Amino acid sequence: MPEIPLDPWLLTPGPLTTSAAVKAAMLHDRGSRDPAFLEIEARVRRRLVALVHGEESHVCVPIQGSGTFAVEAMLGTFVPRDGRLLVLVNGAYGRRMVTIAQRLGRSVEALEWPEDRAVEPEALARRLARAPAIDRVAVVHCETTAGVLNPLEEIAAVTARFGAGLLVDAMSSFGALPVDARALPFTALAASANKCLEGVPGVAFVLCRREELEAAGRRGDAPSLVLDLADQYAALERTGQWRFTPPTHVIAALDRALDELEAEGGPPARLARYRENMRILLEGMRALGFEPLLSPEIQAPIIATFAVPADPRFSFPRFYELLRERGYVIYPGKLTREPSFRIGCIGRIGPEVMRGAVAAVREVLAVMGVASGAPARATGAAA
Ligand SMILES: *Cc1c(COP(=O)(O)O)cnc(C)c1O
Repeated sequence: MPEIPLDPWLLTPGPLTTSAAVKAAMLHDRGSRDPAFLEIEARVRRRLVALVHGEESHVCVPIQGSGTFAVEAMLGTFVPRDGRLLVLVNGAYGRRMVTIAQRLGRSVEALEWPEDRAVEPEALARRLARAPAIDRVAVVHCETTAGVLNPLEEIAAVTARFGAGLLVDAMSSFGALPVDARALPFTALAASANKCLEGVPGVAFVLCRREELEAAGRRGDAPSLVLDLADQYAALERTGQWRFTPPTHVIAALDRALDELEAEGGPPARLARYRENMRILLEGMRALGFEPLLSPEIQAPIIATFAVPADPRFSFPRFYELLRERGYVIYPGKLTREPSFRIGCIGRIGPEVMRGAVAAVREVLAVMGVASGAPARATGAAA
């Protein structure tokens, strides 16, 4: 998809590079109550449910804002006031769910793993077998902190076996990594327009099991008005309209982005493209001496983390700036334990962009006088 690169390529966890057509879809003003907009909005919601084959069981409730708004809405709506939430934590996004639940005044506890490891279903099963009883389990599908893919199917099976509800943050995986609501039991799953769906930021959504959403509405104990998914859904069903101003342009762009997902061949084709992007990135970076943090079995084809090189001439701010000058935007690391940086491989980019990024890294190392990207010590991948 070679388009004129007016903007730098965004090799980040979002917002991401989008197509010209997705951006062009925003060049219209549509009234929030106008049939032209309502038709787009209804189509987008239908298509998002269809992506997980949830037509029989789930509904899509959109919410204005970034992805975290949807996560907070999901926790506030589905963790009952007198319920208990268990969060599986192996990175910053899991920790964020704990913080949100605490702010909402919900009873919450965490099971934790290091940031370079996947969460373990067996440990979840051991905890669920004990008191006090857990009503809801929350997990991040792809933990974007390091790029770890968590075993969602196994987590869902264990959670269902113990009769708890599963709440998924699928922000950085939705649209590429497979989720099938017919086989994988989940109460709610939150995602946003601007990651693997390749739309623009401004709208997020939660796919909710209809019966549980309605039960949450009857409980009526969501602590926020704007982030009450049951109320948002009830209004949409009753009037076809949002309670508060919808991001009309963003939703039109998402509709266009969903056309492109379909044209590409759906999530399997998108996943294949991202896998190839990731392969080119890892191979190229390894050839320069860099070491990916994660072992291949848990590396999601979304974003890779690299420890900073041992060479004292390496400076991340300089590295970032020199890559930016060459048209590639990367991302600082988010690891708590060591300095690192991240390079994403999602968005409207293909192999030629990834090869260009690796070539730019090689050039920038030479400019900085850094002979090798090798870190001070072997990281997790070698262990
Ligand atoms: C991007 C992301 C979010 C949402 O972040 P926002 O900045 O609020 O859009 C949440 N969880 C995960 C795993 C993410 O990758």
